Formats: sequence, C-alpha cells, structure tokens
Amino acid sequence: MMENEHDINGTASSDQKDGEDHDCTTTSTTTSIINTSIHLLKEEADLINRIRDILHLDEEIQQSSVTDRLSPQKHHNDRRFSINNITLSAATLEFKIERVKQKFAAGSMEEAFYECWKIPSEQRTLEIWKLGAESSKKLSCFAVAERWFSEAINACRSHNTDLNIKLEQARIARFYSTYLLRYPMIDIRVDSRGKGIYAKRVISTGEDIFTDIPIVHSQTVDTLTISPACATCTTSLLTPSLYFETSWLQMSDKLRKQIEDNWPKMTIVPCTGCHYEIYCSEECRLKAWVSYHRILCPSNNSATVELYQFCANRQIIVRETWNSIFSPMIIAKLWAMIIIDTVDHLVNDNTSSSSIINSIETSTAIERAKEKFSDFISTGDETYVYTIPRMLRIMQNIFDHSSLPFRYEVDEKEFTYRFYQIACNAQSFSSPTYAAMIYSHFLFNIRNDRNLCQILQKYSHGEPRDQVFGGLFLLQSCLNHSCDNSVEIMDCQVTPEQAGIKVRCKHQLKPGDELTINYVDLGLGRRARRAMLKRAYNFWCECIRCRFEGDDCNSCTECRKYSENNRKSFPACSRCRAAWYCSADCQKRAWKRGHKIICRDWTKERSSSSAN
Ligand SMILES: [Zn+2]
Ligand SMILES: [Zn+2]
Ligand SMILES: [Zn+2]
Ligand SMILES: [Zn+2]
Ligand SMILES: [Zn+2]
Repeated sequence: MMENEHDINGTASSDQKDGEDHDCTTTSTTTSIINTSIHLLKEEADLINRIRDILHLDEEIQQSSVTDRLSPQKHHNDRRFSINNITLSAATLEFKIERVKQKFAAGSMEEAFYECWKIPSEQRTLEIWKLGAESSKKLSCFAVAERWFSEAINACRSHNTDLNIKLEQARIARFYSTYLLRYPMIDIRVDSRGKGIYAKRVISTGEDIFTDIPIVHSQTVDTLTISPACATCTTSLLTPSLYFETSWLQMSDKLRKQIEDNWPKMTIVPCTGCHYEIYCSEECRLKAWVSYHRILCPSNNSATVELYQFCANRQIIVRETWNSIFSPMIIAKLWAMIIIDTVDHLVNDNTSSSSIINSIETSTAIERAKEKFSDFISTGDETYVYTIPRMLRIMQNIFDHSSLPFRYEVDEKEFTYRFYQIACNAQSFSSPTYAAMIYSHFLFNIRNDRNLCQILQKYSHGEPRDQVFGGLFLLQSCLNHSCDNSVEIMDCQVTPEQAGIKVRCKHQLKPGDELTINYVDLGLGRRARRAMLKRAYNFWCECIRCRFEGDDCNSCTECRKYSENNRKSFPACSRCRAAWYCSADCQKRAWKRGHKIICRDWTKERSSSSAN
C-alpha cells in the first residue's frame, strides 16, 4: 500500500544501529532489528561460497571464515559481526575500491561482489556498500542486496530517497518474485509514496488479472455465530438447526427430517479439543491445527478461552476491549503462526527442541518467522492501545502462557504494530460457497413440495447472512487507493481447498497505468472520503476524482472563488452533482482538463473496499 512511510518496526530500512549492545534475551523490536541482519548474513555466506566455487577460488580468506561469522555465541558481545581485525591502509583501500569499480564496469558481478566483501566491513565506504548491493542484485541475491542497500543507507547518514527506493526494490524482488513470474502482465514498482502495482500490457475491462490467497485470516466477529463457516477454507457450514434457530426445537421430528433430507449435504468436523472452531473436513482441521490452532486451542492454552468467548459473544464494540470491525483473533493467529514457524526453523536447523529458550538462535528464528508479515504497512494512532487495555491483557496472557515453546512478548509496541498492520491491510473475503447459496439450494430442492413450502413459510426468516472473513494478502496489499479505482476485488475459490480473492479489471488499462482499488465507499462526497482515508490510512487523497470534484456549492471547484457572502450557491454539474462552477467558462475548462473522465453518478457504483 502507499502513501505512508513504513513503520520502522520489522522493515529492513530500519536495519541495525552500529555498535550498540542490546539485551538479546527479549524478543523486543530492538533485538529483532539486529537479528534480521544475522539471518541475512547467512544468505551472504551462501553467496560467497557460490562465488568461490564459480571463480575456483581457494585462496585463504584472511578474514575470519564465513562460518565463524555465523556462529552467534562466539560474537556474543559484538553485534556487528565485524569480519576481521585487519585494517587496510588508505592506499590499499583506494586500490581495492578501484578494482571493484573495474570489475563492476566490466560486468563481472561475481568478482565485483567478492572484492567488495573482502573489504573489512568497518572500512566499507558508501560507494562499496552501493556497489556490493548492485552486484548482488544483478546476481539475483535479493536478500544480500537488501542488506547492503540498508548498510549504504546507514553509511549515507542523511536521507537518501534513491537508496530507499532501491532497498524497497530489492525487497520486492525477494518477496514477490513468484507472483511476478506467474502474472507477467503486472509489475510492482516503488516510488516515494511506496509500492504500487502497474499494468505491463493492455488489460481489458472485465479481464481477471490475478488471484491471491490470505497468509492469515479470521472470520469477522459479527458473522461468526450467525453464519458459521469452516475456519480454514471459509466455506459456509450453515446447518438447518442454525438457520432456523429457536424454531428448530419447536418443529416435529418429521418436519425436521424432511428439512434435513433436502438440505445440501455437509460434514462438520469440530476441533477435537474445543468447541470454538469448526471445519468442513479432517484436512481443514489438520491444516488449522498444524499452522496455528495447536497454540491457541483452549485445550492446550487455557488463556485463550477469554478471547474465543469474546469473539463468540459478538462484542464488536466493547469499552476497553475492542473497537474494530476485524476480529482480534486474526492478530492472535498471526502471533501463533510466528511461534510455530520459529519452532519449525529451529528444528530444521537441528537445534534440539528442549533448548528452545530465548537464546540468540531463537531470536534469529523469530525474525525469520516474522519476515513473512513484514511487508504489510502499519500506521495509526499509537495511543489507541491504551483505550483497549483489556484486549492487550488478554493477548499478553495468551502469549505468556506456560504451554508455549517460548514466551512471545506482546508489549504495547508490538500490539500496536500488529493492530495497524491488520487495520491498514485486512481485506474482506470468503469462499463463494455462501450461506445464502446453501439456503437457496435447499429452496430449490423443495420447490415441488408445495405442502412443505407452505409449512416452512411460518418458520423462514428470509435469506441468511453470509460468512465474512478478514485476511492479509501479500500481493493485494500492494494495491493503492483511488476514488476512481481501476480494478475490483471479488471472492474467489482460488484452489479447490483455498478461498481467496480475484482482482478484475474495471476499466481498460494501458501499459504503465496503475491498478487501484477503493478503500472507502465511492458514493460518499469528497470531504467524507478524504476524512475517512486520512483517519484510517493516514493519507490525503489526491486522485483524479478528488482533483476534479469539489466539497460544497459555496466555492467554484475550478477557480476556487467563493460565492458572495456564501449566500448564493453555485450551480452543480448536472450529471455527477459533485462539482460546482461560478461560470460556464469554468465548467468548460474543468471538463476539458479532466472532469469528463470522472463525471458520472457515483452513487450507483459498485463498491469493493477493504474490510474497514
Ligand atoms: Zn474447510
Ligand atoms: Zn480447539
Ligand atoms: Zn480520491
Ligand atoms: Zn470559477
Ligand atoms: Zn460532473
């Protein structure tokens, strides 16, 4: 998403502060920043080994060996992992820098990077960090390029937009390369506003552009109990007893049997440990158990009961607890996934699971697990957390629980960061197997049984409400907002097992045009839209529609002149009724400059906004 400076927590641009010694026994932000580079150092070691193979190098590395540098205990007191004790003389350094430049200019990226790397890190100049970054990027080692660009930014001291953009580009290459290969008609670009998705070829109206599946999702609390669904694949699990609610118990056994015989067949698999989560199949149950629920199931962690109860009671707005449309469960799931990924990394790295303590290995593994979520922007009022102390306490109790492999510290900062990640990026979606569809299948099945239809009229209360989920989507979250959006988001069964979203072209795109969605209701006036966008996403909308609409009838939308004493109002554009002009001249000029592109009745536009 755009417009906002990335929150410094968890992004590579906030890379380490040289030389500061931090307490490594916590999982706090400061430690996490340091450890990001440790984990990127491993990628660098791999690259160096690869280059040495390619170049058939067996020269003795004068510096301490690559593996030494990766052994965290050895350098416990030196967070910078400086690679050697040798200091090059000014003349040697200058000579080496010259050699790097030559290798780079000659297109020998392996040699260029190797030469950069051999210069002791304390002596690497801004130019060396930049050349190392550029050469590793050319070698498609984006994680390494990312580290070197962020070192270049550190070496730069003053703010450097160009380097920041390059750092972002390296991150994009690392995070989104699979998407970009799969969808060659789009490109992700960064500018000073942040990321955006652009068309690489003509994309026609109605064309499907890409699909995306959520990396974490949870059903919204307001549909959770009235429209039950599989917690994993989001397909509706509306049963007749749930649809008919209390009337179900008043029906005769015969009637209930008749209804059940005609209701679409479905299996409901509850969690074996609790009654809070239900699934459509054993596969979905297992998937949930493996990826987050074993951390959150009340049968393992008694502290989660309060959170599950809170969600089940549909308490969307409760003082001191929660005041948001998305479910707090999505944040809990995100942390549970980080914990599970961390443990998996440690097991894969052969750390014996008994020693999973808050060691530096654990913090490094946590950083690696967090990476998956690090590309979602997070921006908002930092004091909000203090208005919901109960939710903070509920989360702290869950993640400080003795059942966990390690304690995950949920402090105000971490809570706020995750809260706004979800608030800024959550997209509503669900499986196209909606509750309403199940109900209409049922009506279809009984259409010839006049008698049954008549009896049911007494009990029916119309179409059921559909299940709604909120999810974080990696590619979709790069889409920026426009009040005249060019693409729409629709629910989609992406694979037979996984529901997600589909992005469809709303009006034709030329190469270079940006794909945009609308975060707010398009039927609203400009003032209301801008206020909502500012409040929820912290930017002031300057889209084409905002540029060619006005706020009220007292000033001319084109020349900005005020009507006399604000008494007389200017006439509105008869089609869109969202612009006011002092004269026919002003109207004509505005029309030509661009009003014609956005002039239509917006109250009839279909909305496809984000979850909040
Ligand atoms: Zn399912
Ligand atoms: Zn459970
Ligand atoms: Zn706008
Ligand atoms: Zn005017
Ligand atoms: Zn108009």
